[in-house]
Amino acid sequence: MKSHFGQYGGRYVPEMLIPVLEELEKVYFKAKKDKKFQKEFEYYLKTFSGRPTPLTYAKNLTEKLGGAKIYLKNEGLNLTGAHKITHCIGQALIAKRLCKTRLIAETGAGQHGVATATVAAKFGFSCTVYMGEVDIERQRPNVFLMKQLGATVIPVSFGSKTLKDAVNAALKDYIENVDSSHYVLGSVLGPHPYPTMNRDFQSIVGREIKKQLKEYQENKPDFVIACVGGGSNAMGAFTPFLTNKQVALIGVEAGGRGKGIGENAIRFSGEGSIGVVEGYKSYFLQDNDGQLQPTHSIAAGLDYPGIGPELSFLRDQKRIDFVSSTDNEALRAVKVLANSEGIIPALESAHALAYAIKLAPTLSKEKVIVVNVSGRGDKDLFILAKAFKDKNFYEFLKKEVGNGY
Ligand SMILES: *Cc1c(COP(=O)(O)O)cnc(C)c1O
Repeated sequence: MKSHFGQYGGRYVPEMLIPVLEELEKVYFKAKKDKKFQKEFEYYLKTFSGRPTPLTYAKNLTEKLGGAKIYLKNEGLNLTGAHKITHCIGQALIAKRLCKTRLIAETGAGQHGVATATVAAKFGFSCTVYMGEVDIERQRPNVFLMKQLGATVIPVSFGSKTLKDAVNAALKDYIENVDSSHYVLGSVLGPHPYPTMNRDFQSIVGREIKKQLKEYQENKPDFVIACVGGGSNAMGAFTPFLTNKQVALIGVEAGGRGKGIGENAIRFSGEGSIGVVEGYKSYFLQDNDGQLQPTHSIAAGLDYPGIGPELSFLRDQKRIDFVSSTDNEALRAVKVLANSEGIIPALESAHALAYAIKLAPTLSKEKVIVVNVSGRGDKDLFILAKAFKDKNFYEFLKKEVGNGY
């Protein structure tokens, strides 16, 4: 199995993790070619997560914008509200084959923690999730959900008390407990084979898009647009189209509040540079010493200084174009989609929609745009209510605090 994408990717980890990752690679590679494994994976995607997710023709939005036809791949209808559950189910099934009894994860916003805790409950693993103390304070609803699902959430109180410190704590645990535990990685990043494995799991999204477009009598998309945090929902939607050069692939990064370090999470075209961090080579927002820089996005899932190695490679190859949407553009896109289509997208996905809303009117009416709506907006309730300055919601929260707490 290929461990690099051009110069990117690889396996830059402590010596003692090498045999563990080699075993993971071996078992995954075998499972990939095993019809029984694929059947089992598909069974849980269908009966547990709710696949296939619909491809919805956004008729009202298309007519309103007056250009290309817009289709929405609604990954938000998955269990736990986003695409993340797919690669967590895949990894849980691999962990079973590795005879592991425990799942370890780190989480920043808590979305990956919730997806991991969900599969742990379903497939009978114990589950430990590391989370920075600062993130725990910011993401209380997800911490609550993880606990209900039976996971142990361990606060990380060193360093900046955020995601990168949680990664270090989780890695330490993994090294100490490799015999019993599988480390569940939440995107197409980290050391080989994680980027390849998670991409393969997610590529069901693009395969479904292909099939579902045919049902609309569409031959192929002209554009597939997806937001890019680590890159898993984007690679999932893009992979089956990579060989068809007539399909333009567009990744949308978080433009945040604007230019400058700490204001956005644009790894390409901004301040990003090539480096080796957290076990893999790719583009990172880092300083001259390779220390990760602070990032900002209104969408927690895009607020990450690294990016999957295959995306770096495909960007160099000019196969994927990268653009960015700002916080405000994403917020406007949430409103537009909610009002025109009855779908409240996750703030991450709204970045992709914001770009589609700009692009569609510049294209003729036969053109087809598919937007991967990676998640639904329920999780963003508190952020949205605050951003839209909803006084009634604020009053509601105040009253709730007064009532019995
Ligand atoms: C986590 C998340 C993302 C970002 O992760 P990728 O690996 O880039 O897909 C995007 N959208 C939603 C809804 C998420 O929860």
